[in-house]
Amino acid sequence: MNAPAISAARRRLLMLLAASALPLPSRAAALPEPPMMKAAAWGSVPPPPEKMKRHTITHITLHHQGETFKPGTDMASYLRTLQAWSRRERHWQDIPYHYIIGPDGALYEGRDLQYAGETNTEYDPTGHALIEVVGNFEEIEPTQAQLDVVITTMAWLAQRHNVPLHRIASHRDHSAQTVCPGRNLYRYIQNGYIVGQVGERLKRAS
Ligand SMILES: [Zn+2]
Repeated sequence: MNAPAISAARRRLLMLLAASALPLPSRAAALPEPPMMKAAAWGSVPPPPEKMKRHTITHITLHHQGETFKPGTDMASYLRTLQAWSRRERHWQDIPYHYIIGPDGALYEGRDLQYAGETNTEYDPTGHALIEVVGNFEEIEPTQAQLDVVITTMAWLAQRHNVPLHRIASHRDHSAQTVCPGRNLYRYIQNGYIVGQVGERLKRAS
């Protein structure tokens, strides 16, 4: 009369053994760092670390240059000029943005991501990874190449820093004082295309 009880216990033991032999669920595949020109390569003069504010990334925020990017302008020279202007005119320690996307969709490292960026408007960019696309998107349309790099960079940052999708937005979502990133780029934030594509990349990587 004990036989069924024993066999139930043995069955449970076998199930436990079988479960322990199953492979652990695989960790999400880390999205690779998108190819980019590092700051040293475009001739950045690094800021004094003791003057920089460290932060933890909680948001990803899209910007545009807001000025016409003259065709044929060398990106390295644009970035060196932006860095010098930031120091001279704004008394900032470095370029305000962490990543900059060129007219052809090439990606450039700006301010070191471990340091908080800068803004001319009322929001506090501490905790924000700042991505700038060159050009004025009140006037021009973003290219698919630029949108793709925005998405790839955001997905990589979101995965690495555990930024939830609802904290991916644009400058004007945080500030009433700007139209940045320009209506033609903002459209892709507003209609959910950019954040939706970031979500797809994250889903595929998990
Ligand atoms: Zn902005």
